[in-house]
Amino acid sequence: MTLTTHATIGALIGAATGNPFLAFGAGLLSHFLVDIIPHGDRELYENHKRKQKHRRAYAFVTIDGIVAVMVIALMTGFQPVQYLNASIAMGVIGSILPDLIIGIHEAFHIKWLRWFHRLHFFFHNMISNRWGDVPLRYALFAQAVFVIVAQRWF
Ligand SMILES: [Zn+2]
Repeated sequence: MTLTTHATIGALIGAATGNPFLAFGAGLLSHFLVDIIPHGDRELYENHKRKQKHRRAYAFVTIDGIVAVMVIALMTGFQPVQYLNASIAMGVIGSILPDLIIGIHEAFHIKWLRWFHRLHFFFHNMISNRWGDVPLRYALFAQAVFVIVAQRWF
């Protein structure tokens, strides 16, 4: 999923649990579970691995990262939930941490992170390996609808 979707789910988990440690753990777990749903980024990632259409992959990740920060800033900035801030922060951090680790592994080829890379893509490709991926534009539209609707639950 996009970082925006993961971060939104992490914020919701943080608000729901009200406990930073629980929020972090549940946010982390949510990343793997949500990634199981095919979400259209396989081709983008495989092109990146084959060193094709690099710019598109970098632009996608950059835009996603900036939108994720904006969405979380808007979600938290207008809410009187100061007492929940640590939980929301830890929920968001837990929910996006796996993709940070993947990014670090990809950028620096750190061998001892290989197991984590395998674990991540075990979940990420669980369904799409068997039945294929969905078109990226539909996946992005569905995630945008989810992020907008999710604001009502926050
Ligand atoms: Zn991921």
